[in-house]
Amino acid sequence: MSFRKRIKTVILTMKILSIKTHPDSILRVRCRPVEEITPQIRELFENMHLTMTNFKGIGLAAPQVGVDSRIIVADIGKGAIKLANPIIIKVNGSDIMEEGCLSVPDTHIKIKRPCEAVIGGLNENGSQIEIKAEGLLARVLLHEIDHLNGKLIIDHLNVIKRILYYHKMKKKAR
Ligand code: ZN
Repeated sequence: MSFRKRIKTVILTMKILSIKTHPDSILRVRCRPVEEITPQIRELFENMHLTMTNFKGIGLAAPQVGVDSRIIVADIGKGAIKLANPIIIKVNGSDIMEEGCLSVPDTHIKIKRPCEAVIGGLNENGSQIEIKAEGLLARVLLHEIDHLNGKLIIDHLNVIKRILYYHKMKKKAR
């Protein structure tokens, strides 16, 4: 007796997406939850991962490629993480590290964040998973979740530094 497994072939179109940069308004929206992991969502995961790698990022959120869905990818060199509807289940401790962002070019900001985080969400197969992250990975995931709520690294600046930042931006735009 033999079984023939029916393999569903989904043809993915892999492509590098363009990165939206501040002050693009998509970066300020509160993104919508994903209802189901469809082939389109899987394609978005793949393209976001490809885009992130191409631009030498270690994390990327959907609004950064112009999509207002709660989707993030991360890879700090220990394997790719792809999450839809990520939620922060638990955080612990804190430390300060300099962060950059593909959507806020040429800017590095020291940000205080928890150094441990438990993040839940759906993986690319639609399974509910939990990730226990610490150090850099915890930071990256929390940074990407900020994006889904319309928050950018510059929002972590105090008032004076924020004024200086916008002043610098204006000068650059001239
Ligand atoms: Zn970012």
